[in-house]
Amino acid sequence: MSLWRDIKGTLQPFWVTLCNMMRRPVTVQYPEQKQQMAQRYRGRLMLTRDPEGHERCVACHLCSAACPVDCISMQAAEGDDGRRHAAWFRINFTRCIFCGLCTEACPTLAIQVTGEFELAGRDPLKLVWEKDDLLVDHGGHTPDYNFYRQSGVGVAAPRGGLPTETAPVDPKDLMP
Ligand code: SF4
Ligand code: SF4
Repeated sequence: MSLWRDIKGTLQPFWVTLCNMMRRPVTVQYPEQKQQMAQRYRGRLMLTRDPEGHERCVACHLCSAACPVDCISMQAAEGDDGRRHAAWFRINFTRCIFCGLCTEACPTLAIQVTGEFELAGRDPLKLVWEKDDLLVDHGGHTPDYNFYRQSGVGVAAPRGGLPTETAPVDPKDLMP
């Protein structure tokens, strides 16, 4: 019994090797060949736009609060229409660990991951990306989402004026 087990144990690794010799190699000849990353791969971050072409980011600081390595910084500003945006927005990719927590925290779906992973370089300062570097001209993984239309913020329509909203309650009407 133990003799058969020993023979099997000796031959089995040869069989595994033989099977793998017949398989096609999985090696990707990088950088000549580029691998297509999975859609949920967490690569470089980007700032997206809503379907109307506006910047989605409202500079709420939630992403920087969620970031475990403090690599996001920004300054908030407000336009003439009352809409908030980031006057400047900076990500230090030398510190980013690509955990994706900032994308989870973002209420406007502004900050999203891309499949890009080629960030290596010799100059660390080139890995500090500003808003112009991060901002893209599309909606990323959620092209149809529009925060201002969904949230009913007064600058898009008067409060209670959106089809999905009910009109605000006048507290004086509740008096006995
Ligand atoms: S992916 Fe993680 S580490 Fe990188 S900026 Fe977002 S929260 Fe910070
Ligand atoms: S990217 Fe999102 S979470 Fe970060 S400041 Fe802009 S709106 Fe807020």
